[in-house]
Parts: sequence; structure tokens; C-alpha cells
Amino acid sequence: MIELTEVTKVYPGGVTALGGVSLRIDRGELVAIVGPSGSGKSTMLNVLGTLDRPSSGTVRIDRYDVARLSDAGLSALRATRIGFVFQQFHLASGVRALDNVADGLLYSGLRSSVRRKRAAAALERVGLGHRMDHEPHELSGGERQRVAVARAVAGEPAVLLADEPTGALDSVSGAGVMELLRDLHAGGTTVVVITHDRDIAAALPRQVRMRDGLILEET
Ligand code: ADP
Ligand code: MG
Repeated sequence: MIELTEVTKVYPGGVTALGGVSLRIDRGELVAIVGPSGSGKSTMLNVLGTLDRPSSGTVRIDRYDVARLSDAGLSALRATRIGFVFQQFHLASGVRALDNVADGLLYSGLRSSVRRKRAAAALERVGLGHRMDHEPHELSGGERQRVAVARAVAGEPAVLLADEPTGALDSVSGAGVMELLRDLHAGGTTVVVITHDRDIAAALPRQVRMRDGLILEET
């Protein structure tokens, strides 16, 4: 599903955020990438999610070699195969939950009525069927993150990448979001959770530990 081979990422200015990492994630896995702040986790997510290109090494998503795709090709790959969830939700303010989710399908080529129908189904799936007309400021943090998860999965991506999805939540809401990610995984979605929280990582079946831009060990 995803394969990184000897991937490095050096940012302009000379920071080596990834020092040569190889990682394979198979279809149907639920994986934690865990490490302290600054260890390269978000950089790894950006590379896994084709938001950023590596400085060297190869990235394959669904057997596509990312280096061989144009920016437009990458955007299409991302839009159809990858769902993202971020710590800060990234919902549009003043836009109701239904449209926040439906707008995530803008590049799907689906008609707007179909986008809304899919969005409603995704919100039902995350337990927010009763909050579709609420705007972000009318929702709790946990509910906002559920909307973000609904948006990420509405297009039925092959893989869901979540960067510190519980980082802005209290522990109860965070546990709810983790349970939701487990449910999605149980339903067949490949899920990668990035976290600095060892307890969250320890509850997942596979853990990839990072430090200083390198993979330390796998358990
Ligand atoms: P983590 O998500 O584990 O906290 P990051 O991947 O965000 O780690 O960062 C890894 C290293 O790369 C850090 O030293 C960070 O300061 C640096 N870094 C991250 N993004 C950039 C950027 N856009 N430009 C320059 N350096 C960056
Ligand atoms: Mg990070």
C-alpha cells in the first residue's frame, strides 16, 4: 500500500528531518508512528501523504512511484486515495458540518447533491448525524475532530493519515476519536496515527518508533 525506501528529507536551511527511513505499510494495517517532538513524524506524514516530496529515496503509494508523477498527478492520487486528519481540525469556520465534509469531495467529480449525500453518510458514520447543520463554533473539540474524520473518509480513501489527532483534545474526547479510528480500521480502512503519546501508540497493533529523523525500532 505504502512503501518508503531510504527516504531522506532535508529542509532548505539544512535541517535533516528524515535521515534515511524505510517503511512498508500494508493494506488494512493500523499503525502508530511515535516519537518525541522534532523527531520527524510530521515530515514523515507529509511524505507518506504526498504533501511533500522527499530529498532522496523512493515513495510508492498503491505501487505508484511518487517521483514519476506530476504535481497534478500527485494531487489526483492524494484526492482519491488518501484522507488526512490534523491536530487542529482545519475546518472552515462559518460553514456547517455537512458542507465542511461535502467540500472535501470537491475534486471527486461528483455532483453536489451526491457530495452532500456522501457527506451525510460520513457524518452518520462518525456519530454526528444529529450535528450536520452545526458550524464548527457550535461543536465541541471532539465533535470537530469527528467532522474532520468524516471529511477524511467521505471519499473512501485507501489510507487515512492522522497527525496527532488527539493532540488538541481532552482525554475523554481523545479516547473517543481513537475509538472512532479503530472502528474505521475494523471496517477495512488502513490507518496511520502519528503521535508523541506513548500510551496512545501502545494501544495500537503496530508501533514504529522515531527519533532524530530515523526509525529506531518496531514493535
Ligand atoms: P515532529 O512532527 O516529530 O515534531 P517534524 O517533522 O515537524 O517533527 O520536524 C522534524 C525537524 O524538521 C525539526 O527539527 C523541525 O524543526 C524541522 N522542520 C520541520 N518542518 C520544517 C520546515 N518546513 N522547514 C525547516 N525545518 C523544518
Ligand atoms: Mg508533528
